Amino acid sequence: MAGKRKLADNPDQKERRWSSRVQELRQKKVDEKARIARERLKLLSDKNSKLCVDDTESHAEEDEAMLVSPERSSPLTLTKTEKGKTKLDFYADENDAHLKVKKNLRFFNTQYLLMVQAKLSRPDLKGVTEVMRANAILYSRKRIGDLPGIDVGHRFFSRAEMVAVGFHRHWLNGIDSMGIEYKREYSDYQFPLAVSIIMSGQYEDDLDNAEVVTYTGQGGNKLTGSKRQVKDQELVRGNLALKNNLEHKVPVRVTRGHQCQTSYSKKVYTYDGLYQVIKYWAEKGVSGFTVYKYQLKRLEGQPELTTNQVNFVGGRIPKSTSEIQGLVCEDISKGLASKPIPATNRVDDPPVPPSGFTYIDSLKIGPNVKIPRSSTGCNCRGSCTDPNKCACARLNGGNFPYVDLNNGRLIEPRDVVFECGPSCGCGPECVNRTSQKRLKFQLEVFRSPKKGWAVRSWDFIPAGSPVCEYIGVLRRTDDVDTLSDNDYIFEIDCQQTMQGLDGRQRRLRDVAVPTDIKVSQSNEDENVPEFCIDAGPTGNVARFINHSCEPNLFVQCVLSSHQDIRLARVVLFAADNIPPLQELTYDYGYTLDSVHGPDGKVKQLTCYCGAIKCRKRLY
Ligand SMILES: [Zn+2]
Ligand SMILES: [Zn+2]
Ligand SMILES: [Zn+2]
Repeated sequence: MAGKRKLADNPDQKERRWSSRVQELRQKKVDEKARIARERLKLLSDKNSKLCVDDTESHAEEDEAMLVSPERSSPLTLTKTEKGKTKLDFYADENDAHLKVKKNLRFFNTQYLLMVQAKLSRPDLKGVTEVMRANAILYSRKRIGDLPGIDVGHRFFSRAEMVAVGFHRHWLNGIDSMGIEYKREYSDYQFPLAVSIIMSGQYEDDLDNAEVVTYTGQGGNKLTGSKRQVKDQELVRGNLALKNNLEHKVPVRVTRGHQCQTSYSKKVYTYDGLYQVIKYWAEKGVSGFTVYKYQLKRLEGQPELTTNQVNFVGGRIPKSTSEIQGLVCEDISKGLASKPIPATNRVDDPPVPPSGFTYIDSLKIGPNVKIPRSSTGCNCRGSCTDPNKCACARLNGGNFPYVDLNNGRLIEPRDVVFECGPSCGCGPECVNRTSQKRLKFQLEVFRSPKKGWAVRSWDFIPAGSPVCEYIGVLRRTDDVDTLSDNDYIFEIDCQQTMQGLDGRQRRLRDVAVPTDIKVSQSNEDENVPEFCIDAGPTGNVARFINHSCEPNLFVQCVLSSHQDIRLARVVLFAADNIPPLQELTYDYGYTLDSVHGPDGKVKQLTCYCGAIKCRKRLY
């Protein structure tokens, strides 16, 4: 009975229901295309399967040392540690490759943010070191061909992410190759062999026509600054590897790096699929030094390479409202949000805008609800920076839950986050007020074929960023039960979650909950959240965010103006680095069979989230 709970039938239900026949046909076509693409790719991977190492194989020997990190990675499966103890597989609870990749990147991101918090230099590098220490490099052995869970079009947000997954193991080199130590897996070949290349405009002689590219070999150029050639390249290492790929007809993964101002790292790397080296030659480059050139051709049967992927910067993201297709409302917030939130509808005929609610931007207090007096707060001035002196940092277990990066990022989900509030001496720019700052990302409400209204962002959202607060009217749950038709109730289940009752998945890190914290007193059944946020008739953009069984946002309870956990604020944070235009979702947290209709019978609703591990029912 936790989380966002549907109480009864909803007049808005039309919005959430199956699409009309026309849309079903459209969807069928899309599904069919996707099926054909999948089959093509399967054929391709069958063709290459003799080149691939078995996923489950245990790897005794280690990978070559990486360029920068002194650490050596550990094998994926059960392995002996230095002390001779058996260490558990980091991915033991996960059998789907995509979810393993997600788990890997989330873990890396947390480690990275912890290193940022510790103010260490090269937090990306040290974050990867932590991933290695935890035995969590997903592909610790290099392999030829696609890596399970990383599809064509996958976007990485840093070179470090690629190292953490094991996709491209070099920090600086554009060519990642395997040496003679892979003789056992790939006995028919001559080494080195290239497994992955990154095209990032590093070389002045690169030529990129998407399906066919001319790639300049490595060496002889300045890696920083001018990037000009300063001496001849030689046919060794990566360059020799690509020549061997040509001779053995071994394909190589191609990833393109793009400058991207809206990405927090200012760079995005898109995996564009497998390419075959078709010829190579040496020539004098524009600077007069010998460079090796390789012509690569994209293998057929792979998902289409869209302009969006090749040149992401100039992609499909509209720059102004006049460019938006299917625009039905320029700003659903009517000027209340810090940025206009347009609504688009390319599904219905005629296209209708979202209706039946009034936009509000801050929580309204309903009848019979009393907000406690504000807590004592901290004595900091300006911004809270010293965790040893800040009383609010102490509430969070001795450190700040956020790092001062990209306007504030939460390091990891917590039972509850104690932010600074009205009684604190710090100002609005304090990092410990991150979720109270105004909406940062350009959001759009759009009509989806199966799930009604949905929300996405035109900006990159870095993992740990607050996306929006769940805004509505704060009510007693008892009062709401008498209102029959409301699909937008969010039960504040923070306390239930912390007590391991019937809330969401327990958070990883315990916090020092103050002893004077209010616990449920008046409510006899402490399993039932006492308060909820009703975003039915009045609410903000959060009311349009759909459920997913495998979401990219998570729910975080935040206390700022008081310390009554039953009345905690509900804020949605990014769980992953979210690329533009990906639908934003969170887990509504319904318990199955917890929703009853007006007749008292258990109600069911099919889930259309499309996740690999979809529970198939929303409730
Ligand atoms: Zn503060
Ligand atoms: Zn403080
Ligand atoms: Zn404070």
